[in-house]
Amino acid sequence: MSELGPSPLASGDELPVAAARTAINSVLRPITDTETVPLPAALKRVLAADVVSPIAVPAHDNSAMDGYALRGADLQTAGPTLLQAVPGTVFAGAADGGNLAAGECVRIMTGAVMPEGADTVVPIELCQLAGQQLTIQPGLLRAGDNRRQRGEDLALGGVALAAGRVLRPADLGLLASLGFDKVTVFRRLRVALFSTGDELQTPGQPLAPGQIYDSNRFSLLAALQRLGVEVLDLGLVPDEPALLRDTIDRAIAEADAVVTSGGVSMGDADHTRDLLAARGKVAFWKVAMRPGRPFAFGPLHGKAGKTAYLFALPGNPVAALVTFYAFAQEALLALAGATQTAAPRLTARSAVAIRKRPGRTEFQRAIVSRAAGGGWEVRTTGAQGAGILRSMSEANALLVLAHEQGSVAAGDDVEVWLFDGLV
Ligand code: AMP
Ligand code: MG
Repeated sequence: MSELGPSPLASGDELPVAAARTAINSVLRPITDTETVPLPAALKRVLAADVVSPIAVPAHDNSAMDGYALRGADLQTAGPTLLQAVPGTVFAGAADGGNLAAGECVRIMTGAVMPEGADTVVPIELCQLAGQQLTIQPGLLRAGDNRRQRGEDLALGGVALAAGRVLRPADLGLLASLGFDKVTVFRRLRVALFSTGDELQTPGQPLAPGQIYDSNRFSLLAALQRLGVEVLDLGLVPDEPALLRDTIDRAIAEADAVVTSGGVSMGDADHTRDLLAARGKVAFWKVAMRPGRPFAFGPLHGKAGKTAYLFALPGNPVAALVTFYAFAQEALLALAGATQTAAPRLTARSAVAIRKRPGRTEFQRAIVSRAAGGGWEVRTTGAQGAGILRSMSEANALLVLAHEQGSVAAGDDVEVWLFDGLV
């Protein structure tokens, strides 16, 4: 256990959430293989190298408005500015904007290349035209207004997107704006997933007495799909040593990471611990958190130096998802090569008092909503038992109470992790 430290389960101590996270992150080796994919297939993929801009954006000084292009030096401050409008209009897409002499202006459209000599655009609504004479009242405009400068968004040779970025819709648009139709990303992380438990039945089948449906595989499958990883669904494995061994070995051979649920993080029975000990350095932790105390993590090794990281989550459906979000999600993103891995967190005012004792991290299922007086408020969703999946389904966020924190009064600020974001 040298890499991961002593197993606190063995000693009976509880490991703080932050310490577990640090221990996990310290042993991860991100994947390095890359592939080139077309832009429409690149959403959520992780950029493998910096993207350097092959062009300046914008490529020319251009107009930010529909109006008249002019020389800023012609603007008067004491009285109206009078300019001579030259015939014609400079349209967006025209190769150049022509030339403009002192005292002249020309009609120009948004995005059109600025004429040589012009550095300012007066919006159409700020000027009067009588015949060919344009009048601008003083104080409405300064030199340089309404002109976008060449390279102001992105300089030629500048880093447009940094390696490790998880590509979002705007990033794909940005890549397209630079002329790229494909992008080099890390190969997709492969994550094997299975549930353990003799009592479990696959949905769609009738339940025998004493059985329950395997829900974890479906919530975790979806959580993994949202991360953009490739999932290898290895199904449902009964608590049977030989089957468990075969499944683990297949997972090590075929995947970069293995996510399991149930069997007190598979450390319940001695045979499971022996099996995992034979494959790698798995730490069985009792994490100081609620829900989701039992959790096991470690690298497993197969043939030819093949490694897969095991994330063994507790069986209780809420605990399984909460431990996934608290530990596995960030670690999987890091393994996939991503540099920004933390989910967005914000502060909201608790609408309710919450009892809490210091010494463990609590993850309550919660609903964040707009407060009547402005800002955000958060309230917990009904019964919070670790098995009550409905509390998670009704929630739109986790309300996270830190390790050292005590009870919360109504109106106190608390941390929340939103389940969904805009992108
Ligand atoms: P375990 O961690 O195996 O002791 O399981 C803790 C609780 O979670 C038990 O009530 C199990 O029946 C339940 N459980 C375990 N795995 C699953 C699963 N895949 N889907 C739904 N419930 C589960
Ligand atoms: Mg079990």
